[in-house]
Amino acid sequence: MATLEIRDLHVSVEAEGGPREILRGVDLTVKQGETHAIMGPNGSGKSTLAYSLAGHPKYTVTGGEVLLDGEDVLAMSVDERARAGVFLAMQYPVEVPGVSVSNFLRTAATAIRGEAPKLRLWVKEVKEAMAALQMDPAFAERNVNEGFSGGEKKRHEILQLELLKPKIAILDETDSGLDVDALRIVSEGINRVRSTGEVGTLLVTHYTRILRYIQPDFVHVFAAGRIVESGGAELADKLENEGYEAYVKGGASE
Ligand code: ADP
Ligand code: MG
Ligand code: MG
Repeated sequence: MATLEIRDLHVSVEAEGGPREILRGVDLTVKQGETHAIMGPNGSGKSTLAYSLAGHPKYTVTGGEVLLDGEDVLAMSVDERARAGVFLAMQYPVEVPGVSVSNFLRTAATAIRGEAPKLRLWVKEVKEAMAALQMDPAFAERNVNEGFSGGEKKRHEILQLELLKPKIAILDETDSGLDVDALRIVSEGINRVRSTGEVGTLLVTHYTRILRYIQPDFVHVFAAGRIVESGGAELADKLENEGYEAYVKGGASE
């Protein structure tokens, strides 16, 4: 079983007036088959954690390590991370001009699997995954992210998750911008992938509502650049009732 270990991770961003430390010693272990929710107030550094794991060039790791089965993830290129089985929806957040969803997914699958999936089987796989997510088949022919609505972007993320079958999936604010029906469909997709027992999921979210559909095994409260409390699913209920106020007093976060 694959294990992602984040140890004392420190990350800075280049800001006006010099580098600014955002992550201040994050420790977290995610195993294949587990679902972890990272919850916290706006500005606490949740997306910074996700981007740092994705290898986004804007973020500089100044300390700590990230290991996948003992392999140094931080030393890997973005593509190597994907091949190693770490899926980050925001790896490709931008428009990819002239590349259809269908070609994009096949290229990604080829990179990850080491060989191109057989075309006919692949088309079938994509069709089935899209049907499960109640996506219009025409979506496969659209250019990646070109004019995608918020909801389409999120479905595209889950479509990637279903087709690329990573070991560890990091999903940032998958619930944002979704109406209730879309949230349910997207959550069902995540649960389908989860039910294989073969993916460890890091679900990053500000709101508790997605956790009505996806029961996490672990909940971590993120504040001011680190995990300040961990618990089971009941911790999400507590956050829903009490908010994050107890964690931001002292004002380290904004
Ligand atoms: P969250 O996802 O929890 O809302 P973020 O990780 O987006 O938090 O942001 C954490 C803090 O880091 C915020 O204060 C934000 O302004 C700052 N920050 C994040 N990315 C950048 C960046 N690229 N440049 C400057 N500041 C950034
Ligand atoms: Mg530290
Ligand atoms: Mg964020």
